[in-house]
Amino acid sequence: MMNIDCNFDGGNIHVVDSSDSNAIKLEIRKDKHADYSQWFYFRAQLNTLEKCSFTIVNAGQVSYPEAWDDGTIVASYDRQNWFRISTDYQRQQLHFSLTPTQPIMYFSLYIPYSYERHNDLIAWALTQQHCQLHSVGRTVEGRPVELLKITNNTHSSDQQNKKNIWIIARQHPAETMAEWYIEGLLQALLNEDNSLSRSLMANANFYIVANMNPDGSIAGNLRTNGAGVDLNRSWLVTNPEQAPESAFVSKAMDKLGVDVFLDIHGDEEIPFVFAAGCEGNPNYSVHLDKLDKKFRKTLHQINPDFRVENGYPADEPGSDDLSIACNQIGHRFNCLSLTIEMPFKDNQYLPDPIKGWGTERCKALGQASLIALQQMLADI
Ligand code: ZN
Repeated sequence: MMNIDCNFDGGNIHVVDSSDSNAIKLEIRKDKHADYSQWFYFRAQLNTLEKCSFTIVNAGQVSYPEAWDDGTIVASYDRQNWFRISTDYQRQQLHFSLTPTQPIMYFSLYIPYSYERHNDLIAWALTQQHCQLHSVGRTVEGRPVELLKITNNTHSSDQQNKKNIWIIARQHPAETMAEWYIEGLLQALLNEDNSLSRSLMANANFYIVANMNPDGSIAGNLRTNGAGVDLNRSWLVTNPEQAPESAFVSKAMDKLGVDVFLDIHGDEEIPFVFAAGCEGNPNYSVHLDKLDKKFRKTLHQINPDFRVENGYPADEPGSDDLSIACNQIGHRFNCLSLTIEMPFKDNQYLPDPIKGWGTERCKALGQASLIALQQMLADI
């Protein structure tokens, strides 16, 4: 008998049978109010340090079953150091096994980013000189959605010329790599000794939402918020009742303006880092195409983890779904607007067999994005 539970922030699993530690059967739960699933995160209290074997019996019924092929998951004894475990996907079931060295272990689809860590990040950021709490939205379940404003003080005439750079993350709550990215970006941007950030802040206001979807994050959801809404399909006609998180940010954008928008995500299937643009938007222009290409090329030169090619097929002109944040904001503000996608798995071009796509690389990508933005300032 093995004790398995997920009664903590971000937890997700259902135990089917844990009587035999060499044949543990589990199921992934669906999002609380929607028909999506893939994220899991659980604790196993092991009764043996002999080999343990796990099977996720409903792996074939999740949202992206293709992602299991050649995939890995992560495990940890201390929730600080996470390492990869290889998996075997056969007959619609996902198998993994290991011989543990400690009696308690955690398993997850990707390295979690806890709500406590989120609160620490926001609290720390606000103690830094150039960071203000611009405004606070509310989630369906009443949690805060913090909009940070980061800039330095300048004369009001200079202030008018500043660009407004918006970066949001975790519309999809399971894509925790997005908040690791924001953590790295904030650490670089708020570093007093970083002359790059001083130069950026002299020319731009940064508006940052580190977690768009705390309700879904805590619930262990894959894609949706506390009302079962996929926030990244809620930007065409905003809905303050069912999707107050995106409605809040969309309204703030209308008020403040947007010159660049980056929406940070993770992709379950594709094993590299890339951006998806909004080339299918009505009125997509040569100018926007140039900005898009320059940003990708620049970021790739700064951080080769980022690949220039899109992992998704580019949308045909006029075919974009304007309920997606990147498309809607790019269209509304006629600005550089990109979805950045990081892998759950690894970067196949620069693999790391122990960590896969680990949190330090998410953070490094966040920092690299600042350098790329700095090099784009004259163009945007
Ligand atoms: Zn996403």
